[in-house]
Amino acid sequence: MGRVNGRSCIVTGAAQGIGRAIAEALLDEGADVCFADINGDKVAQVAAANVDRAAQYGGKVTHRQVDVTDRASVKAMIAQAVDHFGKLDVKFNNAGVNRPMNFLEVTEDNWNFIMGVNGLGCMIGMQEAARQMIAQGTGGKIINTASIASRQGFDNVAPYCASKFAVVALTQSGARDLAKHNITVTGFAPGVVATEMWEQVDQNLMEIGAADRPGQAMEEFSSEILRGRVATTEDITGTTTYLASRDSDYMTGQIVMIDGGMTLV
Ligand code: NAD
Repeated sequence: MGRVNGRSCIVTGAAQGIGRAIAEALLDEGADVCFADINGDKVAQVAAANVDRAAQYGGKVTHRQVDVTDRASVKAMIAQAVDHFGKLDVKFNNAGVNRPMNFLEVTEDNWNFIMGVNGLGCMIGMQEAARQMIAQGTGGKIINTASIASRQGFDNVAPYCASKFAVVALTQSGARDLAKHNITVTGFAPGVVATEMWEQVDQNLMEIGAADRPGQAMEEFSSEILRGRVATTEDITGTTTYLASRDSDYMTGQIVMIDGGMTLV
C-alpha cells in the first residue's frame, strides 16, 4: 500500500522540473494525479508517458492545460480532476516563474508577471481547491512551493523574493482560515534545484551582466550549500510525498526547508 494510495491530487507546473517530479513520485505511491501546466502540449506528453507508471501502482492519470492566474481556468482544472477521480484530496500550487533583473531596472511588467504567477496564482489555487474540499466535506491538503527566496533576499531577483515571501504569508494565513474546514496548508522551500528553470534564469543573468556563462550562478551557489551540491528533483520528492500523505496530517502552516543547509535561519 503506497503512502498516498487512493488520494486524488493536482500538481501545477507539472510539465517539467519539480512539478513533474512531484507528480511522478505521487504516482509511485498509489495516488491519482492530474498533471496541469500552461504548456498544454508538453503536459499532455508527460501525462501520457506516465500512464503505465500509474497503472503499475494502481492510480490514474489525467492532464489539463491551465493558467494559474486565471480563475476560470483553475476552476475548470479542478472540475476535470474531480470528474476523473471523484474528489480532490491534495492540491500542489507549484507553478512558478523567475526573470532576474537588476533592482533599479525592475519594471511594473516584470513585477506583475512574477507576482501574478507566483503570488496571485498560489492564492487562486488555494481558494478554489479549498472550495472543492469544503463542498466535498472531506477536508484536504494544500501544499505550496516556496523557496529559499521566501526567507531572504538574493541578488537581482527582488520580485521573485517578494512573491515567495507572499507564498509563506498565504500558507500561514490559509492554514489559519481553513483549519475549521479540516484543510491543512503547508509548503516546502527548495534551495537550488537543477531544472529547466535555470536556463531562463541564466539567460536573464547574462543579459544583465550578472553572469558570463550558463551554469555560473549554480556553481557559485554550490559553495554555499552544506551538502556540497545543488539538489536534484529526487532530493525534493520524499518530502512532497510526505506532505501529501496521512503521515503529515498534524502539520499545518509550516514551510519545510529542503535546501541542503544553504540557509540556517
Ligand atoms: P520550471 O520552470 O522548470 O517549471 C515550471 C513550470 O510551471 C513550467 O512547466 C511552466 O510551463 C509552468 N508555468 C509557468 N507559468 C504557469 C502558469 N501561469 N500556469 C500554469 N503553469 C505555469 O521550474 P521549477 O524549477 O520546476 O520550479 C517549480 C517551482 O519551484 C516554482 O514555483 C519555483 O519558483 C520553485 N523553486 C524552484 C527552485 C529551483 O532552483 N529550480 C528553487 C526554489 C523554488
